[in-house]
Amino acid sequence: MSDLLTYLCPFCNASLNPREYVILRGELKGRRALMLFNPTPGDYSTIIPADFPVEMNDEVAFYCPVCSRDLACPQDPSMAELRFRKEGDEEEQGTVLFSRVAGRRATYFIAEGRVHSFGEHADADGVNYWGVRTTI
Ligand SMILES: [Zn+2]
Repeated sequence: MSDLLTYLCPFCNASLNPREYVILRGELKGRRALMLFNPTPGDYSTIIPADFPVEMNDEVAFYCPVCSRDLACPQDPSMAELRFRKEGDEEEQGTVLFSRVAGRRATYFIAEGRVHSFGEHADADGVNYWGVRTTI
């Protein structure tokens, strides 16, 4: 995807990737930290403070760093939910869902009833795509 991809808070509409990384606030085991994610779908490289105690299979709570709202997906709290907007040759906007579980690589871009999944753990669950076909 060479198109410009912007991630947005579903509550306050703030851009969550002002430059190279998507910035979210993470909470785990009573600790808080800013966590940076690569905005390229399927790239799971992250930048996390060295003292943030995240380990494989930990379920991280994500919050918008601007308005502090909980980003857990209401239909499936094991996922976090953002909005996305793609500009360029193929303009598109919709919802992006990604697993809150550390090490679980599953990301879904949902727009106009279509789902594009990324990550080696995506599609393994027989997911129903959170009722997207009835809500969009
Ligand atoms: Zn927000």
